[in-house]
Amino acid sequence: MIKEKIVEEIKSCEKLLIGIGEEWNAKETGDIKELYEKLNRMIQGKDYFIVTTVTDGEIRKSSLDQKRIVAPCGNETWRQCSKSCTKDIWEPLEIPDDICPHCGQPLTGNTIKAEEYIEEGYLPQWNAYTYWLSATLNKKLLLLEMGVGFQTPTVIRWPFEKTASINNKAHLYRIHGSFSQLSDTVKGKADAISENSLEFFRSL
Ligand SMILES: [Zn+2]
Repeated sequence: MIKEKIVEEIKSCEKLLIGIGEEWNAKETGDIKELYEKLNRMIQGKDYFIVTTVTDGEIRKSSLDQKRIVAPCGNETWRQCSKSCTKDIWEPLEIPDDICPHCGQPLTGNTIKAEEYIEEGYLPQWNAYTYWLSATLNKKLLLLEMGVGFQTPTVIRWPFEKTASINNKAHLYRIHGSFSQLSDTVKGKADAISENSLEFFRSL
């Protein structure tokens, strides 16, 4: 019943905001590519934006519109200097020996786990996201939050609650195996689904 409702709301919403969190880490699932392709088919033609905290870069290889994705926690397949001597970021295999051409130190993944995270990797898309978000205020907005726990709640979880609470036409679905609880600020505008979001989405 709730699944049919979500599919129907995806079709009828004007704006669709999707949050993807740690449950979607490819290391824990074998069919992540298929799931991103399924997501792409489901939201084809919608005015959507995806915020993800997953850093494995798998979403970048999918058919999803890359201009509608922001990954504020970074991308392991993009490389940066481990000593952050430069703000340069390199594509996978652009530097075959994985050594910084400026200072000779090893490169590391361009993610929040780097000693000094070079945020320039995601900032242009973050600006695109905040611009997109500013146009959702009086629109019928569906927020679909899948697998976002408390590793970095300031990126998706708390802002999504705030966005839902200030928009009268918003509806939030929070799907998570163990952290689906909702704050009081979204009472009546949100549903918590206590199920692993990957399993839930597979059967959607
Ligand atoms: Zn360097």
